Amino acid sequence: MADRSTFEKRVGGWLSGASDALVSVFFPGGCRLCERLLLRASPVPICQECLGSFALGGAGCERCGQPLATWSLSGAEEARTAEGLLCPECRARTYGFDRTRSYALYKGAIVPAIMLLKFESVEPLGRWFAERLVEVTRREAISADVVVPVPLHRQRQRERGYNQAELVAKPLARKLGLPYRAVLLTRTKPRPDKHILSLEERWDSVRGAFATRPGSKVDNLRVLLVDDVMTTGATLDACAKALRGAGAKSVIGLTVARAARHPAVGSGESNPKDAQ
Ligand SMILES: [Zn+2]
Ligand SMILES: [Zn+2]
Repeated sequence: MADRSTFEKRVGGWLSGASDALVSVFFPGGCRLCERLLLRASPVPICQECLGSFALGGAGCERCGQPLATWSLSGAEEARTAEGLLCPECRARTYGFDRTRSYALYKGAIVPAIMLLKFESVEPLGRWFAERLVEVTRREAISADVVVPVPLHRQRQRERGYNQAELVAKPLARKLGLPYRAVLLTRTKPRPDKHILSLEERWDSVRGAFATRPGSKVDNLRVLLVDDVMTTGATLDACAKALRGAGAKSVIGLTVARAARHPAVGSGESNPKDAQ
């Protein structure tokens, strides 16, 4: 544990609204992913080794950010279009969003880390992910006017008590100095109860599932749309279409992780949104 003065310095930045964080600083315990003893006082209950092990995607599709390595086998040489390098999926579809970017691939240690965010509302981890997303916005030269989280259906939010996308989007807005506007967007159609959805069912289940709230001002805004995981892009697409339909100038999707998916085999690794 750090001495008193270091500790106070460390506490200063995140004290506001962080009662759970205080608990993990006073009682560090083990890493929530690998159970290694946490040697440094930190509000994030994950060790440095696990945090450092998240798989980053590297360069990829200009539109959806899908890493080149996951689809180059299927003909990257044809992928050069007037808009830049596009993956097979993006050459075949048009989306409501301008582009999407993610911090990491949804595989390995980040999967249980996102579960902590999703089911245990670990706010300090949300803030840690927000810092990583700030780095992504700088690297990708992303600029926006407002930050909007992907909303849960109100019934789901009531059951869970919070929206995991907000745990990242809110601190992200603060760090970027942008207004946070969760109020702009609402989910009008609940997710089907079925546990596993095929890729096409995912697109069907979110089509028209989001709407801007009556009276919300979206006109001409550049929206940064934030979620925890991007699987097919269907959710971000449906949200972006609702925002664009209400007059938004542009929508860029930003997620903590994205499913690494070879277009020929689908997402073998995971079905991240199934537990949404
Ligand atoms: Zn660990
Ligand atoms: Zn793409």
